Amino acid sequence: MKYVRFLWKNEVACGILSGDRINILQGDIFSEHTPTDHIVGLNEVKLLAPCKPSKAVCIGLNYRDHAEEMKSELPKEPLMFLKPSSALNDPDGEVCYPSISNNLHHEAELAVVIGKTSRHVKAAQADEYIFGYTCANDVTARDIQKGDGQWTRGKGFDTFLPLGPCIETELDPHTLEIKGWVNDELRQSSNTNNLIFSVPYLVEFVSKVMTLYPGDVILTGTPSGVGPMQVGDKVTVEIAGIGSLQNHIVAECE
Ligand code: MG
Repeated sequence: MKYVRFLWKNEVACGILSGDRINILQGDIFSEHTPTDHIVGLNEVKLLAPCKPSKAVCIGLNYRDHAEEMKSELPKEPLMFLKPSSALNDPDGEVCYPSISNNLHHEAELAVVIGKTSRHVKAAQADEYIFGYTCANDVTARDIQKGDGQWTRGKGFDTFLPLGPCIETELDPHTLEIKGWVNDELRQSSNTNNLIFSVPYLVEFVSKVMTLYPGDVILTGTPSGVGPMQVGDKVTVEIAGIGSLQNHIVAECE
C-alpha cells in the first residue's frame, strides 16, 4: 500500500493512495489507524513528506560506482552520518541554494522508513521493523562537504531532505531501478542490486548504534552520476514501485 501525508482543507491528514484517489485515514499510520469514508482526489491535496523523522540516518558511498566516481576507497563497513529533522522537505518543495555554496548536488536515494522502535535488531528480523520505502534526495553542498572533512554542514541545510511522494509498504528493496533527473536530463540510473551493504544489514548496523523511532529514515546511499544543480532547476528522484519525488531549486530564502 502507498501511504501519503498531505494538506487538505488546511489540515494535515494521512491516507492510502490508490491511483489518483486517496482514502483518508483516522489515527497514526505507525500505530492504530482505520480508513474513513472520505475519498479525495490526489489533485485536491498538497502532498507533504510522508513521515516526520526525528532523524535521518544516511549512508555514504554505498554504491560501488559512486565510490569510484568520488575517488574513494570502498568502505569496509557502512559510513554513517545524520541529517537533522529541520532539513525535511516536501514533494514539490523548494530546495534553497545556500549563498555560501557554489556546488549544490543531487543524490537520488532509496529511504527505508522505520515502523517500530528499533534497537539491536538483527538483519534477519529487519523486515518486522521496516514500515516501507520512499524516495529521498540527499541534497549536498559538495564544496562545503569536502572543505569541512565531515559532512554535517554540507548536508544539513534546511530543505536538504526531500522525501516522498509516498511510503510503499509492499516492496522488495533489493532490485529496484533508481533514477535521478535534473530538468529533462537523466543524471543517475542504477539499481539497488548495486548496493554494497543491503537494507537488512543497514538496519542491524544502525540500530546497534542508536535507537530508531517510528518515522525515522535510513537513506541507503546514492549511485554514480551525482552532479550540480542551479537555481531554477527541477530535480527528480524516481524509484520503481514508489514513484517520483520532484523539487525545485531556488535562491537561498532568508
Ligand atoms: Mg548520500
